[in-house]
Amino acid sequence: METKNFKAFGTESAEAPLQVLNIQRRIVTPKDVEIEILYCGICHSDLHSARNEWMNTVYPIVPGHEIVGKVTAVGDQVTKFKVGDLAAVGCMVDSCRECEFCQEGLEQYCDIGATLTFNSPDEHLAEQQTFGGYSESITVDESFVLHVPENLDLAATAPLLCAGITTYSPLKHWNVGPGSKVGVVGLGGLGHMAIKLAKAMGAEVTVFTTSQSKVEDAKRLGADEVVLSKDAEQMAAHAKSLNFILDAVSAPHDINAYLNLLKVDGSLVLVGAPLQPLPVVSFNLILGRKSFSGSLIGGIAETQEMLDFCAKHNITADIELIGVDQVNEAYERLLKGDIKYRFVIDIASLKK
Ligand code: NAP
Ligand code: ZN
Ligand code: ZN
Repeated sequence: METKNFKAFGTESAEAPLQVLNIQRRIVTPKDVEIEILYCGICHSDLHSARNEWMNTVYPIVPGHEIVGKVTAVGDQVTKFKVGDLAAVGCMVDSCRECEFCQEGLEQYCDIGATLTFNSPDEHLAEQQTFGGYSESITVDESFVLHVPENLDLAATAPLLCAGITTYSPLKHWNVGPGSKVGVVGLGGLGHMAIKLAKAMGAEVTVFTTSQSKVEDAKRLGADEVVLSKDAEQMAAHAKSLNFILDAVSAPHDINAYLNLLKVDGSLVLVGAPLQPLPVVSFNLILGRKSFSGSLIGGIAETQEMLDFCAKHNITADIELIGVDQVNEAYERLLKGDIKYRFVIDIASLKK
């Protein structure tokens, strides 16, 4: 298969800092779209993967699955994009397309496993893994490329491709809307999108944060109430008050404290993905017929639906735009919860 060289930013090992790497991308095949990447968000999953915290990383790795850019080439059978169009890529670049889940638009739950944007076996270039969006360019089958709304700031749109869809999908699935009392746990990249989206869907939103510095700011983002989760009294005051809780915490924490905040028939849905088990006390589920579940990103059609919803409601992420030379420092700040609320890499900095 014919390939081209591109600059990327990634790492050869869990311990080494990220640095400039040279990678190969395939030349467009008939259904492919080649995208010049302009901006790429930094998701906590990038950090989990770069540092092998999920124990499944194959090196070298180039993270990044919140990608927006411009189409630079299309294969001769591409119908949805032309050169010059804005385009976006999220967490997946392919799936089997035949299983019951792919047929239903739930490619993220593909029976044989979707091909993720980074750290998945590359079906086209057998000797390498897929490489993500911390790079100059990416080539993706048009079925997995999204249209970017023209009215939104492009850099601030990038985080919608993971943080946006990962929170939108469960909010929709659990029928959040007017009258819903929603809790959001963990005010990071995902959490801040969850506030904006749940509010736009008409819900009442209470945010639970460990960071005093985010209490006032959460209200600016639209939260109706903010609870400092380390304060037992504040937590007790919210017992049995919520229908739905979205937990977007990236580290081990006590789930039972949040199950206690659900009303009868309430659901606590995990999107945060620490590797360690989160023990659940049985009575916290039994008393009140509560559900504890999880949710993975969202399907391709649903991702487009989310982008269009954001365009209509004028929703983007609150971002800090950085150059590639700041990525390693950004990872350290992410670990401290020190970002309001998403780092986005200006990929122009990689071309210099
Ligand atoms: P992030 O920006 O780093 O936000 C995580 C937030 O969790 C922090 O801002 C902090 O919020 C809270 N937190 C961190 N450490 C904590 C601790 N020890 N105890 C309690 N709270 C803590 O991360 P993100 O990019 O939003 O991602 C969040 C998680 O979702 C990650 O594990 C990521 O891998 C996962 N994820 C899952 C999916 C999916 O499909 N399910 C998709 C994308 C990401 P406060 O300062 O407010 O306490
Ligand atoms: Zn992500
Ligand atoms: Zn499938």
